[in-house]
Amino acid sequence: MQTNGEGKPGNVVVVGAGMAGLAAAKELADKGYNVVVLEARDRSGGRIWTDFSLDAPVDLGAAWIHGKSKNPIFDLARKSGIKTAPSSYNNSMLIDDNGKKVNGVQQLLNAGRANRILPRLKRLAKRLDKDISVAEAVRSILEESKMSNTEIRFLNRHLIEFQAMNGTSLEEQSLFALIDGPSEYSGGDLVFPEGYAQLFEGMAQGIHIKYREVVSEIKHDDHGVTVVSNKGTYDASAAVITLPIGVLKAGKVRFSPELPNAMLSSIADIKVGLFNKIAMRFEETFWNPDCDMFELVSSRSDFVCQFLNWRKFSKEPILVACFAADTAREWERLSDEETKTRMQALLAKLFGSGASKPTAISITRWGQDEFSLGAYSVVDPGATAAKFDSLGKPVGRLFFAGESTARSNQGTVPGAYLSGKRAAKQIAECSSMKKVSVVS
Ligand SMILES: Cc1cc2nc3c(=O)[nH]c(=O)nc-3n(C[C@H](O)[C@H](O)[C@H](O)COP(=O)(O)OP(=O)(O)OC[C@H]3O[C@@H](n4cnc5c(N)ncnc54)[C@H](O)[C@@H]3O)c2cc1C
Repeated sequence: MQTNGEGKPGNVVVVGAGMAGLAAAKELADKGYNVVVLEARDRSGGRIWTDFSLDAPVDLGAAWIHGKSKNPIFDLARKSGIKTAPSSYNNSMLIDDNGKKVNGVQQLLNAGRANRILPRLKRLAKRLDKDISVAEAVRSILEESKMSNTEIRFLNRHLIEFQAMNGTSLEEQSLFALIDGPSEYSGGDLVFPEGYAQLFEGMAQGIHIKYREVVSEIKHDDHGVTVVSNKGTYDASAAVITLPIGVLKAGKVRFSPELPNAMLSSIADIKVGLFNKIAMRFEETFWNPDCDMFELVSSRSDFVCQFLNWRKFSKEPILVACFAADTAREWERLSDEETKTRMQALLAKLFGSGASKPTAISITRWGQDEFSLGAYSVVDPGATAAKFDSLGKPVGRLFFAGESTARSNQGTVPGAYLSGKRAAKQIAECSSMKKVSVVS
């Protein structure tokens, strides 16, 4: 880093080159700060990861823009001229454990009654003073009303969707949070046929990113910040920390002095959900090429498995199996060979004898990924807004960003993006950050 003279914009180290880190770095660089981004992986994007190993771009981390209206990520894509395509859960084909189309449930879905469970949950939430889990709320709805078998399966389909969205079981999901958000955007979902990672091309332009820099310690005092990585030591006037909640929970990075107690207890309390993908290329398409998704409506409401028909968006014979919550945890423990064998059996069950063996396969294990240790933060029944807010509060010269610091849209790409911009703004508003500058 270059030394800056007194009064000139100072040096800032950003830890992590995911969406939050790059949003902060870009904003700070545009304001004239001297920024270096330290990233542990050999790529930017973090939990946004466009993989090309199937000879076509496939998103193995975030894939969707959930609700395009007023969504800053959609605006970013539009301004950068990046192609997006609508993707709808309502254009799903619902299949039971034996591969049979679930006709009654499909009809309810086709009739656009996809959100019938939400109004009931909302009515129940209004009557409560204290938060309960979604599982408890569902049990109480089932006790109150008589439902036909078809309606129960329809309900199960939604419960599977809630688990897929939040990456955790219904027992661990807050009813109040489900009712309030996190998605504050409307207007349909979109995917990036050529990959989410395109967003970073513009954002990373002119930003100094250093890869394979595994940060292990962050020292801070009234005068500055020192960030220690496996490759060196970086001094600056401020740091933006975008470490994932899983990494913070595991205590992989030491803070000296230690973070305030309120923050430490939030880190300990906030739960991390799991969402994994198995992307597969086949010789040819053996499924209906027009559906957006194939959803398994199992007799078990805790088997969370959906297949995104990537063929529709990429024109290549690719399916992406998505597993969440306990199902993701169970599959993540399997070896590659065991995963392939189980997947082959599942494909045969769901798609019949026409299902062929994948010619190439990419498997994620976000729970074991040392620079993520989970998919995204979860609002469980005990979590309060204050817990998430405390993770985003500056501590002296340390400024925090990342999806888990964004209470109103935690767990999402827009949440991460807006939190990065928030951290940059906090630094810019703090005049002392412009005066201290130390050389690395
Ligand atoms: C499978 C999956 C599917 C998802 N689907 C969606 C979706 O469809 N839509 C949506 O909006 N959101 C989705 N999300 C959530 C979304 O991806 C995240 O909320 C968002 O990308 C988080 O960005 P971030 O910058 O906060 O964190 P990250 O992207 O995790 O960035 C943090 C960075 O810090 C780096 N790092 C970690 N430890 C160290 C260290 N010691 N030293 C240096 N660097 C370090 C990491 O490598 C990483 O690059 C999904 C997530 C997953 C896992």
